[in-house]
Amino acid sequence: MGRLASLIAFSLTVFAGCHPVSRRDPLVPADRADLPLRIKHVSGGIYSVEDGNFWKTNSVFWIGENGVYFFDATYQPRSAEALLWKAMTLTHAEFRGLILTSRHQHHAGGAQAFVDEGIPVLIQRNAAARFEEDWIQANQWLSQSFLHWDRTPLPKLRGAIDKEFELEKGNIKVIFPGEGWSDDNLVVLFKEERMLYGGSLVAYPPLFTAKVDAIKALRALNAVEKLPFDKVISGHGTVVQSRDIFRKLHEYYRDHK
Ligand SMILES: [Zn+2]
Repeated sequence: MGRLASLIAFSLTVFAGCHPVSRRDPLVPADRADLPLRIKHVSGGIYSVEDGNFWKTNSVFWIGENGVYFFDATYQPRSAEALLWKAMTLTHAEFRGLILTSRHQHHAGGAQAFVDEGIPVLIQRNAAARFEEDWIQANQWLSQSFLHWDRTPLPKLRGAIDKEFELEKGNIKVIFPGEGWSDDNLVVLFKEERMLYGGSLVAYPPLFTAKVDAIKALRALNAVEKLPFDKVISGHGTVVQSRDIFRKLHEYYRDHK
């Protein structure tokens, strides 16, 4: 077996062994940063953004009459720039803010593109506490894992969210359900659309690299499940998922206790 073939075989084995996606699933890691984003209108003001680079991650933006909010920033500033360009073609409303549903690079790496446009960046309080240290460490790890990883500049944060943060007169709620997938995981409830954006917590399949306390994850998922929504925009995998995502996640975390 040639070196490349054995490398591929190795990565397939590792991947099949540690997370629930089968080999035939298109969600294999891609060591590239040049794949275009897939942006789709979902419902009401909600648009989904699929970033297939590295390991597939989804994010969201919301367009209202007077303002646009972004929830997560893709992996890299250059993909985030493409996202901002696309949003500019859809509306003349002001870009009011970027809320990062966690400090992790797969959701936060592109944040500098927003800072460059003067868009305020907010994150959960636990993430803000050791933001720089975690950011640098994650960049080191990702540049060792992926040849095409460009180290991402550390964005300046405008503020930190504690338990809950309301936008658009309460029509959009950013909620910290307690530590779950991470100690800073936020979810976003779009009341009018009755949709939830789950970030990394309500994401199936969940990102396999995280060291998650399954009991805490289940507790946070239970809190989120009580919110009033019909569908979920998952932080990974298929973008729009039914409430069945909670059953799958309960099973997953029960098996990983
Ligand atoms: Zn994630």
